[in-house]
Amino acid sequence: MSLVDLKSLSLKEMEAAFQEEGLPRYRALQTYRWLHRGVTSFEEMSDLPKALRNKLAEKYYISVAIIEKKFVSDYDGTIKYLFRLPDGEFVESVLMHYHHGYSICISTQVGCRMGCTFCATGRSGFSRNLTPSEMLSQIQAAQADNGVRISNIVLMGMGEPLDNYENVLAFLALVSSEDGLNIGMRHISLSTCGLADRIYQLAQKKLQLTLSVSLHAPNDSIRGRTMPVNRKWNIEELLSACRYYARQTNRRISFEYAMIDGVNDSDACAEELARRLSGMLCHVNLIPVNHVEGTAYQKSSQKRLQRFCQILERKGITATVRRTLGSDINASCGQLRRNHVQEGGTNVEDIR
Ligand code: SAH
Ligand code: SF4
Repeated sequence: MSLVDLKSLSLKEMEAAFQEEGLPRYRALQTYRWLHRGVTSFEEMSDLPKALRNKLAEKYYISVAIIEKKFVSDYDGTIKYLFRLPDGEFVESVLMHYHHGYSICISTQVGCRMGCTFCATGRSGFSRNLTPSEMLSQIQAAQADNGVRISNIVLMGMGEPLDNYENVLAFLALVSSEDGLNIGMRHISLSTCGLADRIYQLAQKKLQLTLSVSLHAPNDSIRGRTMPVNRKWNIEELLSACRYYARQTNRRISFEYAMIDGVNDSDACAEELARRLSGMLCHVNLIPVNHVEGTAYQKSSQKRLQRFCQILERKGITATVRRTLGSDINASCGQLRRNHVQEGGTNVEDIR
């Protein structure tokens, strides 16, 4: 009989499971709290009777993320982790220190099925979904490694969160639970390449998380070439879902736009983008694309980024140019295994 992943259970599920096994209900809360404090073994649950700990170990396992590699940016102290999961798969996370606290970018899948042509994760294919506990473990491992408490989470690492919808929602419930890390939805961002059907579904939950949409093109012709998902839901369908999301939640949508030299960065592109986004509660983040080996894509010049930003602003669309790559979570996540860390200069090509 294979062991059950205890840390992926909600408190309610744990209570039900304990009850079914004839264990007192309050033991579930005790166990839940230990798991969310980041223990990695049943042994550490010191206020549970030994017999109970043994019984739990017979049926359940505690999923942990082990630090395989770690890179610290000389530039801003950003830490990039490569974690090993219980089955030997690897995922990346990035821990950043801002003036308001610690923020972590976590992965939601091993690889990704979406195949965006500019993305290192997309180019290396898909292996599997992460469980809720594996998403949580990335946060816990980074906290333990640094002796800090993380206050913000971004789901922008490897994988497409809305392609692992059920597990991501279960993770969100765990991480925001009062007896868990208790990180409020307003401190969580979820980035998607645009699975419109899931955006509608998520909107109905009316969670207060920030939805970040990877747009990266102003029209279907360009987006269809760089992001295969656009062939399923085109820009108009995606933007309708975004408008619906903004209306339902009253939250500003954040659009990610990686500027690729000669592909999506012309004045005409900026004008077209401004027209499409006009009237929407949103913000555009302009990021110079991070060059991925095996692709011809190069980043746009700073001058181009500034000019593109100005055009958007002049047309009434609020936009920001991200300053650097090294401290930029979007540019960093998902590319650790195949690329150099841009800021800090650490060579991580030999990471696996
Ligand atoms: N799958 C989700 C979240 C993970 S990717 C999504 O696509 O949104 C996180 C972000 O990194 C996305 O905005 C993605 O478009 C961006 N990204 C991927 N490859 C990049 C690259 N080479 N340069 C800059 N940003 C990139
Ligand atoms: Fe997947 Fe996001 Fe990379 Fe596209 S950009 S391949 S959706 S991880």
